[in-house]
Amino acid sequence: MNISCSAAKEILDIPLEGRAIIAGYWSPKYGLSSQPTIVQWRASQLSSLTPLSNTENPDLDLFHWESYYLQPGWIDCHVHLALDSLDFYQCLKNWENPSLIQKNIQVYLQNYLRLGIVAIRDGGDLPGYSWLARNNVREGTWLGPRVISVREAVNRKGMYGRFLGRGFAGISDWHRELIDFYGQGLDQLKVIVSGLIRFDNFKVVGPTQWTVAELSEIVQTAHQRGISVMAHASGEDGISTAIAARVDSIEHGYYMTAEHLNQMKEYGIAWIPTVAPIGNILKYPTDRYSSFEIDTLRRILETQLTMIYEAYKRKVRIGVGTDAGAYLVPHGESLFDEMDWLVQAGIPKLDVYSMATQENAGIVRQKDLGRLEIGTPMNLLQLTKGNVSLERNRI
Ligand SMILES: [Zn+2]
Repeated sequence: MNISCSAAKEILDIPLEGRAIIAGYWSPKYGLSSQPTIVQWRASQLSSLTPLSNTENPDLDLFHWESYYLQPGWIDCHVHLALDSLDFYQCLKNWENPSLIQKNIQVYLQNYLRLGIVAIRDGGDLPGYSWLARNNVREGTWLGPRVISVREAVNRKGMYGRFLGRGFAGISDWHRELIDFYGQGLDQLKVIVSGLIRFDNFKVVGPTQWTVAELSEIVQTAHQRGISVMAHASGEDGISTAIAARVDSIEHGYYMTAEHLNQMKEYGIAWIPTVAPIGNILKYPTDRYSSFEIDTLRRILETQLTMIYEAYKRKVRIGVGTDAGAYLVPHGESLFDEMDWLVQAGIPKLDVYSMATQENAGIVRQKDLGRLEIGTPMNLLQLTKGNVSLERNRI
């Protein structure tokens, strides 16, 4: 079996049963312990954590992890494995070459694990590459983090999201096809509610694709099946529609308002603010955009960070998701950018850590993730350099 060692950017092969000495551990539940500890595991699960005593002989069949801390593995709540972070249009052309895409995805998956990211939620692609990855990891054919996949998104035909889903002409079209749609398999339902934001026009967002009544019907079909709904929504209208239809999470949510936050708090709707796709363009200078666009991006970034801190103060659920696969948002490394952005918004680092573990586990609805306790599978934990994992992890 494996454990992610993000401290050394390695995936360690460990026996199903063993003991190790560690520098300490951290979890949202137990906080930080900086006392040298003996960790034991049996049948691939954590079985005990005991402070190192003087009588213990630390050389006896122990793994020497004394410079590492043990903590829950990270979760990235919003990625697109089928996108390459380099060139969107070229990448869509490459989709015609499945072996190339599958090779790329396997590299991304291993990278996630090397960086301590043990689960990712994929926001979909029309050909179903992320669904394939999900199944291959599950079956053990590919090495990678657990993939929670929407498989294919629900979008309106002729509107934004052509590469994410087949497109439905209207709500009756959806009702006609939904048996087939759910029959393909999916872990969560992703609905495209609004279009894209514009880098050259502050506050302008592509049109809303569904009425509240239509979107509510779509959401209900998922909830009846016990499936959560993630909504791609930005702008006053798009976000209001998603909230009114009681989706489970708002993805991106640019131009969020204080009133939206109050409603999300009331209904328990989570926000995954994906700062990296905007922020990274400013953080890693590129000549792809005009100075006017850069100015607009700066305004969008500032607005987003301000609202994120508002959300934090109001105790709205905040998830950490990167939109990895988008331009300058590389698979794996960008989770550290995203956490960094949340810290820059004003959220204390350990609270950001809790969001990227415990809160994200709730959002992806996987009970065994985001925690460190007796019984936790070792491959869902990671070894870090202690309390410094927010340092640049770019390779
Ligand atoms: Zn997405």
